[in-house]
Amino acid sequence: MQNPRIFIKALTIGPRLRYVAEEIFKRRLGLDFVLGDESSIPPTEDFLISYGMESRGWIVPESGILKTGTLDEVKFNFANIDFKKVAEQEDNRFNTDWLGMIFWFLSRQEEYQMKHQQDQHGRFAAHFSPLFKLDKFHFPWVDFWIDRLREQLLDAAILVSKQTLPPEISFDIDHMLAYREKGFLRNAAGLLRDGLSFQFGRVAKRLSVLAGLSTDPYEALSEIEFQIGPGHNPAFFIWIGNYGPYDKGLSWENPFFRRTVKLLSEKYRVGLHPSWAALSEPGRLKAEKQRLENITGIQVLHNRFHYLRFRLPESYRLLISNGIEHDYSMGFSDTPGYRAGTGWPFYWYDLEREEKTRLLVHPFGLMDSCARYKLNWNAEKFLEEYKKMKSAAAAVSGRLHVVMHNEFGTWKGWEQILRQMD
Ligand SMILES: [Zn+2]
Repeated sequence: MQNPRIFIKALTIGPRLRYVAEEIFKRRLGLDFVLGDESSIPPTEDFLISYGMESRGWIVPESGILKTGTLDEVKFNFANIDFKKVAEQEDNRFNTDWLGMIFWFLSRQEEYQMKHQQDQHGRFAAHFSPLFKLDKFHFPWVDFWIDRLREQLLDAAILVSKQTLPPEISFDIDHMLAYREKGFLRNAAGLLRDGLSFQFGRVAKRLSVLAGLSTDPYEALSEIEFQIGPGHNPAFFIWIGNYGPYDKGLSWENPFFRRTVKLLSEKYRVGLHPSWAALSEPGRLKAEKQRLENITGIQVLHNRFHYLRFRLPESYRLLISNGIEHDYSMGFSDTPGYRAGTGWPFYWYDLEREEKTRLLVHPFGLMDSCARYKLNWNAEKFLEEYKKMKSAAAAVSGRLHVVMHNEFGTWKGWEQILRQMD
């Protein structure tokens, strides 16, 4: 039997409602939906959601946030909202505007409202947000709410299966060469010993040799290949900027750098890691993208900002105008957690232009450098949190994406960590 269509009857139908309904019902739950205004008469076979009005079906109160042009006016009083009950109903009646709450998270409305609050790198930081003080970023609330809706639709005989995405790991390559010390024999012995039992062994060996192992023994990339195993298909984000205070990678003109990037691009998704300087000099992103494309011969479609240095909406607009389709920067540098309330990829909504864009945002929940430098976690603590966050996400049809840097292999105790992150 085919599932009924979702009919959302609302006082105001605009791009925000259309966007959030599409994210929830179409993209996440795989259901068709239509929007109708006050005068519309929903077909009886449709499943009705009445938004901001008394009618049949599910009745959801309207907060006003889905009206266009209300960038600053509507604020939720999060301290008074029971997050566990946002998507709970009693007799088909909800107490909270979950359509609006989900829109608030995905659109990152608060980052526009707090535009002038910036950390030392010009970024939005988690601790600016009231949600940080309420400890709400740690859990993927949007995924939880959508999962609760799914269960309640199931009670109404609408069959929506639970979807899960496997955890994902991706890598920032800020410094192609982490070490220049003379550890060749030690590393080579390790390569041989470990490589024999892993599928990636041969590839890593080839990579190491071609990448110039004999002139620079430490090659974290090959170690990464050893450890990740065949189940993952990681993306690698390559820093390829000009030298500066926060941009200290190996030059893109270096033959070793170029060979390694080329090799990576033959096997993996290789994305741009725009330099720290790129935020204030927009022309740079284009130049860096061009450099990367010249090396790989492949159009760059993926991006993550170095230092997660981006601002909404400017930085995302810049990506779109440069033909980039996927961004992986949506997370915090100062805390683990879900900046947009979700671990699932979602399309970015440009709040100032009031339009859904074609930029797909891939959020992450955990980052090695934040754990080590901000929180002083050791490898055991990191693994423990990884496992907790991974199972918490899986329980609510969420997904945990982890950001690693190729330097992690030089941190004491972290050297073999990828092998334990299955
Ligand atoms: Zn970086």
